[in-house]
Amino acid sequence: MSDLKAIVKEKVGKDADAFLCLKNEEGTVLPVLITDTDSPDLELVEVGDSRYPLGKILIDLQREYPDRRFAVLVRGCDERALIELSKLEQVDLERLVMVGVACSAEEAERCGCPRPYPGEIALGDKVEAAPGRKVIDEVESLADAERMRWWREQFSRCIKCYGCRNICPMCFCKDCALEDPHLVEPGVIPPEFPSFHIIRALDMTGRCIDCGLCEEACPADIPLRSLYRKMQDIMEDKLEYRAGESAGDRNPLSFLGTEQDIEKLEE
Ligand code: SF4
Ligand code: SF4
Ligand code: SF4
Repeated sequence: MSDLKAIVKEKVGKDADAFLCLKNEEGTVLPVLITDTDSPDLELVEVGDSRYPLGKILIDLQREYPDRRFAVLVRGCDERALIELSKLEQVDLERLVMVGVACSAEEAERCGCPRPYPGEIALGDKVEAAPGRKVIDEVESLADAERMRWWREQFSRCIKCYGCRNICPMCFCKDCALEDPHLVEPGVIPPEFPSFHIIRALDMTGRCIDCGLCEEACPADIPLRSLYRKMQDIMEDKLEYRAGESAGDRNPLSFLGTEQDIEKLEE
């Protein structure tokens, strides 16, 4: 995918003031902001198979430079994140140029991805979704008490490193409930079950865009993506909404419903 360099060159100074993507510096993959076409970093940009929540950087960039336009390299999950972040008023899609990358079949399979491509593809070839449901199916085959035991066992490995929150493209709150001593007792490892993980799961409801970065970052191999995916399944079933799918849909958790709406939910 060496065409990335050509695309960055084409966009910077024309469609956008700067291009946010990844570079490979002696084997270390890092985010990079290319601001001019003579930048030595241009030689190092690459798509590769590393992932990084670039949307988190864009939130800060757009706040710091409200008059600038940024281009950004997006995979399917990055695009979903930016769509949802715009609804949460964290990024302005009007000031963004998305350059889409389709993931390979291997990447889609490894991620268990529901949509391994963005709306418009500039690099790579579109492959079919490979949604991984193994953990969800396994847990759903258990009775309630066993299910609780199963999750308790998974979460007993948690070392409260906050890696899942820190990597998540959809976690941007300045004051995080997971660090509120009234909700989560400081210094207790593993954190109290199930409150710590329920706080995060509830915060991700209607917000998780199913990128799997949390699960990839978790040093305890906890199947976090399956938990959040299940929350999104319930959200879709009850409120007909899946985060990140379309910029035109309103997130039902962002406005108050009427009594009739609530009655409809209870049916
Ligand atoms: S979650 Fe999907 S879009 Fe994102 S990197 Fe994995 S395969 Fe690609
Ligand atoms: S899969 Fe994990 S990291 Fe990705 S948006 Fe959902 S909660 Fe955040
Ligand atoms: S990344 Fe894993 S171990 Fe770390 S806080 Fe999250 S669930 Fe716990």
